[in-house]
Amino acid sequence: MKIDAVQEIKSRVSMREALEHYGFLASRRIPCPLHGGKDTNFEVKGNTWRCYSHCGSGDVISFVQKYYNLSFQETLKKIDNDFCLNIYGERSFEELRRAHYQQLALQAKREREKQEKEEAEKQYWKEFDEYRRLENNLKAYAPSSPEEEPHPLYVESLQKIEFQKYLLECANIRRQK
Ligand SMILES: [Zn+2]
Repeated sequence: MKIDAVQEIKSRVSMREALEHYGFLASRRIPCPLHGGKDTNFEVKGNTWRCYSHCGSGDVISFVQKYYNLSFQETLKKIDNDFCLNIYGERSFEELRRAHYQQLALQAKREREKQEKEEAEKQYWKEFDEYRRLENNLKAYAPSSPEEEPHPLYVESLQKIEFQKYLLECANIRRQK
């Protein structure tokens, strides 16, 4: 039986899955994976994509083809392989099973990395807020003369700000990893 590879791919691999699989954010508008840049030129609607700059539009097959710069046939084989579709029937059950688990492990790893990144981001802003608080208190409660009894918040800020600066720098390094 001959399977129509194009139809098979289109029905089994969504644009969202393809974006996720190749490491992109699966949102409706993202920076274009094909030409790069920061603007969210790339729109996904159902199983079609469109770049509002100059990359054109198409389906999941043309996306993979353009991204990897492959021939049409090469693209079909790549998708077949990457998504374990087995359209071309070249892989044994054991290979498919292994590939499937590899894919699951990869997804789990991406998910973990995403969470770590969010956590690091949250931590950074927490340290940032604390640093700003100390910095503001240092200004707001500074004694106006050497004889004046220093305000407790001023003393606290004076004691903590250097270490807080260090924590902030550490959090910044972690979030940029
Ligand atoms: Zn583009």
